[in-house]
Amino acid sequence: MAVEYNCILIRFGEIFLKGDNRKYFESLLIKNINDALKGIKYTFVRSQGRYYIEKYLPEDKDEIISRLTKVFGIHSVSPTVKVPTDIEELGKVAAEIAPKSGKFRVTVKRADKRLGMTSTEFAASIGGKLLKASGGKLKVDLFDYDFELFVDIRENGYSYLFYDKIMGAQGLPTGCSGNGMLLLSGGIDSPVAGYVMAKRGIRLFAIHFHSFPYTSELALQKVKDLAKKLTAYCGEIKLFVVPFTEIQYAIHDKCPEEFMITIMRRFMMRIAERIARANNCGAIITGESLGQVASQTMQSIIVTNSVVTLPVYRPLIGSDKSEIIDIANKIDTFEISIRPYEDCCTVFLPKNPVIKPKLSDAEEFESRLDVDALIEKAVAETAEEIITPGQE
Ligand code: ATP
Ligand code: MG
Repeated sequence: MAVEYNCILIRFGEIFLKGDNRKYFESLLIKNINDALKGIKYTFVRSQGRYYIEKYLPEDKDEIISRLTKVFGIHSVSPTVKVPTDIEELGKVAAEIAPKSGKFRVTVKRADKRLGMTSTEFAASIGGKLLKASGGKLKVDLFDYDFELFVDIRENGYSYLFYDKIMGAQGLPTGCSGNGMLLLSGGIDSPVAGYVMAKRGIRLFAIHFHSFPYTSELALQKVKDLAKKLTAYCGEIKLFVVPFTEIQYAIHDKCPEEFMITIMRRFMMRIAERIARANNCGAIITGESLGQVASQTMQSIIVTNSVVTLPVYRPLIGSDKSEIIDIANKIDTFEISIRPYEDCCTVFLPKNPVIKPKLSDAEEFESRLDVDALIEKAVAETAEEIITPGQE
């Protein structure tokens, strides 16, 4: 029977650094791993600071790896062949999974010191068996090699053989940094902003402002699809959908056209803060990037930021669009983001939005509105939905 990659080794990264918090970080990471693998049959094994996924069906291996590499806190994973530690067996398995030609090296890590051979002796012995089995097609080169066989000899009587190290999502386990409220539009930037902050351990909540009937069901579906993509990385997301049309009418009626966007954004921030606080979020997250549009100049950001006291994280503030698009492609949100549906901001788009709004002007125009009542009503009519990971 062909040798099977019967065990997936998981390495975790930065959480090693966290001293006293390590236990907490690890328990979160383990929970997130188990959540990510929901619906698949497997056994999770924790042994000497490493995690292993075992006893899965061979046909699930690639899906497991694909899901694991999206879990924040995982540094890398390797499909391994787990065998009882026995030098003959190791040589046999190594020969079977090795490429048939090329230059190679064997690297042995030996936690089990009782075996009467040093790591170097093990490596030489396994390498020798590989050479012999290849009939001269393989060559050893410790420095300039085409592939490297790793053999991890552990104290539990088993050894793990592997070639590949597949990079994980890195970052910190989702949840370890607290909750954040992401302002999620249907655009390119905001899902990327959510991903970037989730990578630092934030559990995401999302809020979307919807201008029914000016924006369609399809526009809303696009937002849900974007949130769904993010859940592959950070687990389930509670999405709040706020009806925004009435507020837009009110601003449109009472305020100068060029302040439309500025004042809309101040409403969005106020509502986001209300719902963020009610959900124990320590920050608001937006996809703003300095100078990208009129509402994202330094002066505009001062004016929109001044209505909230929660910190606002703008992880893309210094990023170019092309850099943001690179991440959007990596996390597979780009194709969804460019679906051509109206956004609530485009519906009432002024011809000449102010680029340097004055705070006192914004406040004066807003005093013509019953800000509190408008917010109260929008919040009361806000819908909630839990977006879960899984099949689309
Ligand atoms: P994006 O690609 O994220 O839509 P954008 O360049 O279109 O960004 P703006 O429309 O000015 O930028 O919005 C800036 C930020 O405000 C967005 O990144 C998002 O965080 C938030 N935002 C804008 N529109 C909405 C909306 N309808 N619902 C929720 N948040 C929004
Ligand atoms: Mg937008």
